[in-house]
Amino acid sequence: PGTLYVVATPIGNLDDISTRALKVLREVSLIAAEDTRHSMRLLQHFGITTPLAACHEHNERDQGGRFLSRLQAGQDVALISDAGTPLISDPGFHLVRQARAAGVRVVPVPGSCALIAALSAAGLPSDRFVFEGFLPAKAVARQARLEQLKEEPRTLIFYEAPHRILECLEDLERIMGGGRLAVLARELTKAFETLKGLPLAELRAWVAADGNQQRGECVLLLAGWQAPEGEGEITTEALRVLDLLLGEMP
Ligand code: SAM
Repeated sequence: PGTLYVVATPIGNLDDISTRALKVLREVSLIAAEDTRHSMRLLQHFGITTPLAACHEHNERDQGGRFLSRLQAGQDVALISDAGTPLISDPGFHLVRQARAAGVRVVPVPGSCALIAALSAAGLPSDRFVFEGFLPAKAVARQARLEQLKEEPRTLIFYEAPHRILECLEDLERIMGGGRLAVLARELTKAFETLKGLPLAELRAWVAADGNQQRGECVLLLAGWQAPEGEGEITTEALRVLDLLLGEMP
């Protein structure tokens, strides 16, 4: 069978496409794209004439078979999304799973990814982190999700739509506390790229005061929960009591 290449494309700056991505997109028989019209512009920019076919959320499961039969007939297919890495808050999961189940080789061609770009420049602990993707759009569900994440010690990363960023910051401030450090990474790799790190209460106020900060694409990062000083540690006093109690046990 052929190979399914999962190819990352830029999240803004077209120079971020890799030499290998261009080579693969040029050489495969077919490109499965989230939005063919959108990707057509990218391909035209680089003078690539490989045929495109739609592979989006709504047809991915059904159309998977079509791409699979091309792969099984020995043709190579590249999967791309509108921006960044496919499958990361983007379509592709079903196709990749179907391909692997059918014994097709799946090869990643890595590149841009908004969450990784944001994390790499945010200055928050990056050794461990949790990517939450998009929070629920409805307030009640969003708040419930945030409640569950309240005591998550790892850095939290969210994707958010610009028209919901303020609402989201308000909920975060209420649930996580206004003092928790947050970073808003907006328009990464583009002309108005902004990375702003402030305690939640101040970041919320800063975004509220400037309509420009409520436009464009953004990633929101939040420092993980930190146990208050001393909490969670076993004190010598606790150990002494535990010792006494154990001594009383039959
Ligand atoms: N697959 C993409 C990736 O690898 O990052 C993500 C696709 S998801 C549908 C789109 C979301 O990614 C946006 O709502 C935003 O949260 C984030 N995003 C994409 N491009 C961005 C950019 N240039 N700057 C900041 N955030 C971006």
